[in-house]
Amino acid sequence: MEIKRKTILNDEEYLRQISQPVDLNNESYKEEIKLLEQFCLETECFALAAVQIGIPKRMVYLKNTTLDVPLEDKGYNESKVLINPIVTSRKGHTRYWEACLSCLDNMGLVSRPYEMTVEYYDENGNEHNETFEGFEATVLSHELDHLDGILHMDIAEEVLNMPKEQRKAYREEHPYEVISKTCDYDSNFTKKLRK
Ligand SMILES: [Zn+2]
Repeated sequence: MEIKRKTILNDEEYLRQISQPVDLNNESYKEEIKLLEQFCLETECFALAAVQIGIPKRMVYLKNTTLDVPLEDKGYNESKVLINPIVTSRKGHTRYWEACLSCLDNMGLVSRPYEMTVEYYDENGNEHNETFEGFEATVLSHELDHLDGILHMDIAEEVLNMPKEQRKAYREEHPYEVISKTCDYDSNFTKKLRK
């Protein structure tokens, strides 16, 4: 079965909805996780929010949250699912030229926290309280925004439009940047949405 992605070309309004909490008592979410996994395995991506493939529920799939493994290495899979995630604290400041499966060729320079503590459930319904840091926190922060209908372009300080190969080269020249590991993220870098 081919899984179709939602993009800003035809589905901007869809992508801007607030995803609904997952009912952990209804096992159907496990089938939906299989779809997230299948899509991620077939696609060059760091991670995916369920709404991006037409499942508007609060689920995120992390596939590759390290800059050490190239995205072209499709076999690499961290296979981590966060259900009903809630951020309880964040700090620090990083910047990265982000791209998004839903935002076509738009690449945006986005500030994210260096460190983020998140409460969530895994695919077996077990509760976790975990601290993510570095690039993993950047990837997760991008996906968590999707659950609230926020796209990276909304909060980017600059947006460039360029095809994939060009993006790759641009990122090599402008890599992931840690500005502070400890500063107060929420008072400094929670940007106002453009719209
Ligand atoms: Zn995205």
